[in-house]
Amino acid sequence: QLEAEVMKSFMESGVYRLDQSDVVFIDPVRLLNESYSRFRLSPSAYYSRHFPSSSTPNEKRKRKRNKPRHAPLNEREICAEERHQQVRPLLLNAHRKLLEASQLLKILPRIVESEVALGCRERVVKQNFVELGSSWRAPFCEITLCNGVQNEVKNPQGLRSGLSEGRELVPLFDHTISVESDDDVEAEFQKATYVLPPKSLFLMSDLRQVRKLIAGDSAEGFNLIVIDPPWENGSARQKALYPTLPNRHFMYLPVKELAHSDGALVALWITNRQKLQDFVVKDLLPAWGISHVTPFYWLKVKPDGSLIGDLDLFHHRPYEFLLLGYVNVDFNSECMQTIKHLKESRVIISVPGAYSRKPPLGKLLEEYIPGRRPSRCIELFARELVAGWTSWGNEPLHFQDATYFLEK
Ligand code: SAM
Repeated sequence: QLEAEVMKSFMESGVYRLDQSDVVFIDPVRLLNESYSRFRLSPSAYYSRHFPSSSTPNEKRKRKRNKPRHAPLNEREICAEERHQQVRPLLLNAHRKLLEASQLLKILPRIVESEVALGCRERVVKQNFVELGSSWRAPFCEITLCNGVQNEVKNPQGLRSGLSEGRELVPLFDHTISVESDDDVEAEFQKATYVLPPKSLFLMSDLRQVRKLIAGDSAEGFNLIVIDPPWENGSARQKALYPTLPNRHFMYLPVKELAHSDGALVALWITNRQKLQDFVVKDLLPAWGISHVTPFYWLKVKPDGSLIGDLDLFHHRPYEFLLLGYVNVDFNSECMQTIKHLKESRVIISVPGAYSRKPPLGKLLEEYIPGRRPSRCIELFARELVAGWTSWGNEPLHFQDATYFLEK
């Protein structure tokens, strides 16, 4: 009976609290859909079709070559292994809870694979904003915001009246674009259509322009800052997806300046590499002024509920780290008395999206965000927009391409 109620709430919200614990299973598609009124994400375009198989004979052979089974671990590898052993029971327990949620497991394959495959609708070549934004053509690129859609609906004859006044041409790069409408807005750029959620704002630029988003008055700053940096990791697959930056560049991200004067919760995605973990904990977080650092974990599963890979596979762990912390907060202030404080690690479980897409965090972190409501939220290095949020990066329209959406 209880599971049926939790299921009902999951189908509406996209969040399933496993066994009333601190472990949640989420459907990122349902969470992202909260941003839209006329459109919704296509699950078949969102979810990954391919999961690394940890047991193919070829891979086993390759791994053996990389690191002979009995070769002693170096110092960094020993630290990484110790860290893994510490978090292992928490992750196993979280996964066990998912496997006990029989109703959820039953519908999971349908949630992930529902809807007609978009394959035939999908344009094979998508706009490469990273390349275009760094070319000589960037200052000449303009995007058309089709605000006229609302007029169109109001017209009793169903004619496209008022559409010309509703079309607005704005520079696409190095320019803050804000969607004022309470409804989804379609935008056109070079024969492609993009779906922009209501009250979203974005800046498509290189790192050098990010300071444009610092509010003149810090009381207008952000209460939640999500950061998913393009870490260098040497993998060819990653390099093919987007350009990366050396670690020292991230020291200059103006995290403190972006934060609200009441303080901000900072959520930083990091990979499993020990060298990166050392840099982040010893150099980066202190440089940004982050305190109360608490790790959360994102555990990745296949549509049948099994882990996407062997939990103990050294270089391909089926989980990622989300480091949370506070910046600019005064723990004695009134606004900090009303929120949940970071203490315990939590586990977020989901089926991963294609193209290394991270799950949306706004709703999951809501209770930890300092300051007034609605919170002001920003994502740095974003590839998508969220209603009410600010998104910055060199390709924040990447996943807004209309081919990722269906009409409601
Ligand atoms: N969180 C995103 C998601 O779930 O889709 C993924 C972000 S990805 C790890 C990093 C992003 O940073 C990529 O879109 C990449 O193109 C962008 N990026 C790389 N170098 C950049 C730079 N110099 N300035 C701005 N963005 C940059």
